[in-house]
Formats: sequence, structure tokens, C-alpha cells
Amino acid sequence: MRMGFGYDVHPFVAGRPLILGGVKIPYSLGLQGHSDADVLIHAICDALLGAIAEGDIGKHFPDTDPQYKGIRSTILLARVATGMKEKGFHLLNIDATIVAERPKLSHFISRMVKEIAGVLEIETGRINVKATTSEGLGFPGRGEGIVAYAVALVEENGAH
Ligand code: MG
Repeated sequence: MRMGFGYDVHPFVAGRPLILGGVKIPYSLGLQGHSDADVLIHAICDALLGAIAEGDIGKHFPDTDPQYKGIRSTILLARVATGMKEKGFHLLNIDATIVAERPKLSHFISRMVKEIAGVLEIETGRINVKATTSEGLGFPGRGEGIVAYAVALVEENGAH
């Protein structure tokens, strides 16, 4: 078995939709980024890439490449999952935490889990997403952006 860790942050900006875990969240601000800036999906991509020792999301989908401009990050996640399968691994579970002072995300967590599990073709019981605030401290606490952390555990096919 192998574990991987992912971290990402995107700043809030006006005039863009807020997409988290593949779910559109109603809010006055969105996240800035080359893709749809889905910070949670990016952290999960990095956790999976880390687990299979394939670098990071920037290596596979450079933000200088116009083909990724505005792309839905769930498409990137699907590609990462395909790469993982091709390398002979399958996912055991993912645990992730979103740090956002606002908006309140609790009502959207189960939809995010469903979306992520769907993209990864795995049962929802293997995907966990949590949301917390930064208690007003630091840049997430000041509502300047959103942070996401994720860990993934994968297993090599045919092990044990
Ligand atoms: Mg990112």
C-alpha cells in the first residue's frame, strides 16, 4: 500500500463561480485559477499522484497550457485516476479537509462526496470530505481564499 498527500490553495475573486468537489456552491465570489480552480479536487489529484509517485498536478496539467484553461477539474481527476489504474494501483480511500471561513459548506459535503466517488468509480463510503473554518486566523480566516488538504491510500493490484 502507498499513501499520498495533497495540498492546494486558491484566492477568492469576483466574477467566477465557486466550484468545490465538482459541485457549484452559491456564493458571491469564486476562486481564481487557470482551470475551474476547484481547490479540493486539486488537492485530491495531488494526493493520488503522490501515492503513485507521479509528481504533482502542475507537472501533468501545466497552467501555462491553454488546453486546461477553464477546464473542469473533475476531468483532470478522472485522468489522474486512469493513470493510477494504468500504473497498476487501485484506490482504497481518500480523506480531505476544506478550510474556508465562508461560505458554509456543510450542506454540500454529501454532494461533493458523491461527485468525487462517481469520478473515481468507487463507493461513497471510501471518500470522506470535511469542512472547517480557520477560526478567523490567517488568510483563510480573513476570507481571502480556500485551502484544501487530502490524503489518499492506494494499493498495488495483486498485492496480498
Ligand atoms: Mg490548484
